[in-house]
Amino acid sequence: MEGKKIMDQAEGHILHTYNRYPAVLDHGEGVYLYDTEGKKYLDFAAGIAVQALGYGDEEYNQALKSQVDKLIHTSNLYYNQPVSEAAEKLCTVSGLDRVFFTNSGTEAIEGALKTAKKYAYDKDGRTDHEIIAMNHSFHGRSLGALAVTGNAHYREPFEPLPGIVRFADFNNLESVKALVNDKTCAVIMETIQGEGGIYPAEEGFLKGVKEICRERDILLILDEIQCGMGRTGQMFAWQGYGVKPDIMTCAKALGCGFPVGAFLMTEEVAEASLKPGDHGTTYGGNPFAGAVISKVLDIFAERGITEHVREIGEYLQEQLCQLKSEYSCIAAHRGRGLMQGLELTVPVGEVSNKALEQGLILITAGNNVLRFVPPLVIEKEHVDEMIGILKKIL
Ligand SMILES: *Cc1c(COP(=O)(O)O)cnc(C)c1O
Repeated sequence: MEGKKIMDQAEGHILHTYNRYPAVLDHGEGVYLYDTEGKKYLDFAAGIAVQALGYGDEEYNQALKSQVDKLIHTSNLYYNQPVSEAAEKLCTVSGLDRVFFTNSGTEAIEGALKTAKKYAYDKDGRTDHEIIAMNHSFHGRSLGALAVTGNAHYREPFEPLPGIVRFADFNNLESVKALVNDKTCAVIMETIQGEGGIYPAEEGFLKGVKEICRERDILLILDEIQCGMGRTGQMFAWQGYGVKPDIMTCAKALGCGFPVGAFLMTEEVAEASLKPGDHGTTYGGNPFAGAVISKVLDIFAERGITEHVREIGEYLQEQLCQLKSEYSCIAAHRGRGLMQGLELTVPVGEVSNKALEQGLILITAGNNVLRFVPPLVIEKEHVDEMIGILKKIL
């Protein structure tokens, strides 16, 4: 009954931009969530690829509690130790040189786009630079991020959107080549398209785009907001392709639940783009956010999270592959590590609704893809449990 009251309260006051699942989640433990009625759910969504460490991690929680008692916010006008450490650690694991911390993925995209524009502007003084983005991409909901999001349904009501953006087809190098001209300042893409339906970049495509960018001094922006932070078994998905971006965005699992994001770049780009006064944020990288990121990166290193993902990701991949061979309603299977998708010929919304009833949290992507982005700490037994429930539904 309590759940019903909370849902009514939300529907009565919160702006209706989401059709929510009928569950009021109350607390979590490990890779399980519990609603207000005490019902238990196996979580294969991780709050949309955020809760990499699952729920109730003692070491993570303790670090946050200590920082709350010490210092939460100071502004970026002063130095603070947690964010200095977080910056050094994030640069080290990414191999990039400079970072700017934000409060969300969308803001990281905005910063990345501004960096690319400033880099081009400082080079030739022009203000008509173009950006190449991909069809079926997702980069966020602010006007700038929406401008590079290749989804007409999300974009159209808000046009005209800022900047000159041209859309190429993901994994089609010729379509990128056809759009490049001397005004092109950046190519932006997700290394693995998430919201669009779990489409990994093909190696030849990513390498080809990188080559075009290198030849023409165009900046390659890789959006690692969903596929980064260990999800593919590499700290960042591009590391598995050996294609280093000039600028990278990161968020979601970077805070494991606390809202943070970041954009990073090479020293070369940093030196020739944003200068004091060109960009800023009140909250971004405050001491609390810094302590969160710093602790998350420590835990990833200490517990060998990427190695674990390689092992469990392979198992999940095998199990989904097996499932595809058994059920004719599964049209395709794609993914890397713990970022997997099943394309269905039956309505995916019905499957995720039934999963919820059966105590399994699953989300969808695109129009017809069931998306598997569980906490990175899941074990084989959880994969087996999920597959068992999914079989009943299919
Ligand atoms: C979620 C997501 C974003 C937007 O991040 P927010 O934190 O929701 O602003 C951008 N790009 C990709 C690839 C995402 O998955």
